[in-house]
Amino acid sequence: MNLLKPTTLALTFALAGIAGAAPRATITSATFGTLPGGRTARLFTLTNAHGMQAKITNYGGIVTSLRVPDRRGRLGDVVLGYDNLASYVKATPYFGAIAGRYGNRIAKGRFTLDGKTYQLATNNGPNHLHGGVVGFDKRLWRATTRRTQDGVALDLRYFSPSGEEGYPGNLQTRVTYTLTNANTLRINYRATTDKATPFNPTHHSYFNLTDGGRTPILDHVLQLRAHRFTVIDNTSIPTGELRSVVGTPFDFLRPTPIGARLKPKGQTESDEQLRNGSGYDHNFVLDGPRGQVRRIARVVAPKTGRVMTVFTDRPGVQLYTGNFLDATNIGKGGVPYGFRSGFCLEAQGFPDSPNHPSFPSTILRPGQVYRQTTIYAFSTTRR
Ligand code: BGC
Repeated sequence: MNLLKPTTLALTFALAGIAGAAPRATITSATFGTLPGGRTARLFTLTNAHGMQAKITNYGGIVTSLRVPDRRGRLGDVVLGYDNLASYVKATPYFGAIAGRYGNRIAKGRFTLDGKTYQLATNNGPNHLHGGVVGFDKRLWRATTRRTQDGVALDLRYFSPSGEEGYPGNLQTRVTYTLTNANTLRINYRATTDKATPFNPTHHSYFNLTDGGRTPILDHVLQLRAHRFTVIDNTSIPTGELRSVVGTPFDFLRPTPIGARLKPKGQTESDEQLRNGSGYDHNFVLDGPRGQVRRIARVVAPKTGRVMTVFTDRPGVQLYTGNFLDATNIGKGGVPYGFRSGFCLEAQGFPDSPNHPSFPSTILRPGQVYRQTTIYAFSTTRR
């Protein structure tokens, strides 16, 4: 018995040592850079108990890096983006950003609300895109950090004054990024206004679960819980028709490689909708009860075994397959992001909803509280 005692003690200490050293989620911050005009943007590093790591700047709420394990446990960056602030300021197709007030398009930048017609900037051909010339993606957000029960969180707040980018109403917004110990990046949005305004924020990460953007995402296998999609015209504005995906290249009800029904670069798509979007650049009408957080998509990268599962309470999601990437954006580590080297799954209300009374409303009114929850969850699979 006497002999056992020290062993037991040692074991107890060893276990306590392991428990004491058990990694905890952390959140730190550093200067990211100086904006034209002199303000400083910060870069926050959120690390969870398993080493998964998100880097997020309060400039545009941009996720600049997201390191998740592959099937062998090796961490790798799965989002496209830049090494430095100046590159984001110079030119970005919304890499990792929060798009708003209205993510996606409003036809001709025009809508009528409560009897008044508003004209917004037309910054995408004839249409308004992602909130205008200086949208949420180019604003400096007020940032605070905190620990949560399940990880660490970054709260970003932005006040959008009435008339900004042509939108009505003083809008108070908050976006919270939480990196949880279950390897999920959760995004919660909250907003209030003092006058009715369209409001449809979204998150715009370009994912590449193989190598963060060195190679195309065409082999990624996608499953989307959507029986219908919003048909678009050749300026990417919904016609109003919700079309069944069955028998079309938009059927991802069963897991299907993203590239299975896409033509190589330079070849004309025979499907009119793929032609209009230059590939997938469409809003899918999500199945299941909108307003409730539900699983809407699953993406598997066969080469690395990384799996991303997406949950949201929004009625729609935009699948964009990086059709306009053409290697002119030189990203992290000097990587030129080529055609279809990233895909976006942007949870949202339908595009151009202010001009389609039949679509779920995207109008936020005084007295209401806008809330959205969207979750990107990461895991791995053997095959
Ligand atoms: C849009 C694309 C656009 C991209 C970058 C996506 O949300 O649907 O048409 O090219 O954002 O701006």
